Order: sequence, then C-alpha cells, then structure tokens
Amino acid sequence: MRIDIVSIFPEYLTPLGLSLVGKARTSGLVDLRVHDLRDWTTDRHRTVDDTPFGGGAGMVMKPDVWGAALDELVTDGTHLLLPTPSGAPLTQRHAERWAEDAHLVIACGRYEGIDARVAAHYAARPGVEVSEYSIGDYVLNGGEVAAMVLVEAVVRLLPGVVGNPHSLVEESHGAAGLLEYPVYTKPPAWRELDVPEVLLSGHHGRVERWRRDQALARTAERRPDLLARLAPADLDKADRAV
Ligand code: SAM
Repeated sequence: MRIDIVSIFPEYLTPLGLSLVGKARTSGLVDLRVHDLRDWTTDRHRTVDDTPFGGGAGMVMKPDVWGAALDELVTDGTHLLLPTPSGAPLTQRHAERWAEDAHLVIACGRYEGIDARVAAHYAARPGVEVSEYSIGDYVLNGGEVAAMVLVEAVVRLLPGVVGNPHSLVEESHGAAGLLEYPVYTKPPAWRELDVPEVLLSGHHGRVERWRRDQALARTAERRPDLLARLAPADLDKADRAV
C-alpha cells in the first residue's frame, strides 16, 4: 500500500516513523510519504490560505495550491481522504475497507478548512474516490492528528503488520460487534485484586463462555447502541440466557 500525506506541518507526522507503522514502513509493507503543501506554492510568501468569500472569521485553504499538490499525487485508483469535523464518523468498517485500497492520499486541512471545490473536483474525476471523515465530535486545529489516527487504524490491518493476526479477531468493534472482554496478565494477585478464577482454570470452554459474557455485559453497560445493532442471528442460545 502507498500512503501520501500532505500538510503544512510535515514534522507533525514524525511519530509515523515509530512502533508498528514505522516497522511496516521499514519492511516495505507500506510506502508512506509526507509532503509539505507549501512546496506547491508559487509566491514569495508561500501562501496557502486566503479570506473567506462571504466574510466571516478565519482563513480558508486555497484550492489552486491544493489542486497543484493533488494533481501530482492523485492518479487512477487513488482514494483521497479529507479529515474534517463535518465528515462521516470514522469506524472500524472504514479502516477495514480502506486497508484494501492500493493508494491513499490524505489532505490535512488547517484554519477554517480547505475550499469545498477541492473535494468536489476530485470526486467528479473518474477513477478517484473521495471520502470526508471525522475522528469525533470535537474540533482540532488541523488534520494531522486525524491523519495519524487513520494511518494507524488502517496499517495495523495490513497482512504482516501485527505479529499475531489472531489478536485482530476478537478486538472491540470487530466482527462480533461487541466491545472486548477485560484482559489480565501475571501476577494472579495484585493489590488485593485477583484475576478471575476461571482464567486460571485451564478450561478452554469455560474461559470462552466467560469472555463472551463479559463482552456482552461490558457492551450493554458502556455502548448499548452497539448491542442494539446486533441481529438475533449474532446471539447464540447461551447469550440469550444471560
Ligand atoms: N471550520 C471547520 C468546521 O467548523 O467544520 C473546522 C476547521 S478545523 C479548525 C481545521 C482542520 O482540522 C480541518 O480542516 C480538518 O482537517 C481538521 N479537523 C478538525 N477537527 C477534526 C475532526 N474532528 N476530525 C477530522 N479532522 C478534523
């Protein structure tokens, strides 16, 4: 997979050289490149923004500068991703779908955002998909953190990035539609808190049932909206007895 990120603060993205994403880059599983939007400016001041038509506070990022950058980076088959608080809320389903794409380009906005014609122009271009996504109902100063969130969520799903692929199966927001059960490690007793006895039993069937019950209870308590979305077919007989 190739990922291009365009930002006026490329140094903001340096954490993408660390940990699993960093390793995936070094081993060639992902070709991630960060670009400075100002490299596509043509004036002495390297201007990327201007005042909004219609008046109002703040500045808007210029379509001509973004167009020059994206014309170089966007090709047939590119998925152009625009982080914005007015986008669709990012979910694990998006991450799964976008992990199948061969080429992602992420355009990080600043100020009041990017001139709306940029999204419209590339959405109308055959062979290019455009998605505007939000990482939550709050407003950040820029799209860089939202780009990092997306890259981390997508890259960990690429084959070979997470050492044990089984650890992706039972996670929160996975195929079961539930939050993950609580997890424990050694020591079995810590500050008068004991690990649940069933986890020390070595009885695979009981452990599986306990984990499923815990996942259901946790989801019911913390995210009843997720539980409400489960189809009856997603529940087994023992679940219904809980
Ligand atoms: N004026 C915009 C609005 O009210 O929708 C907010 C602009 S925000 C200050 C600047 C940039 O930060 C946005 O263009 C976007 O790239 C990024 N951003 C801010 N909040 C975000 C969020 N919740 N999700 C994704 N990107 C966000």
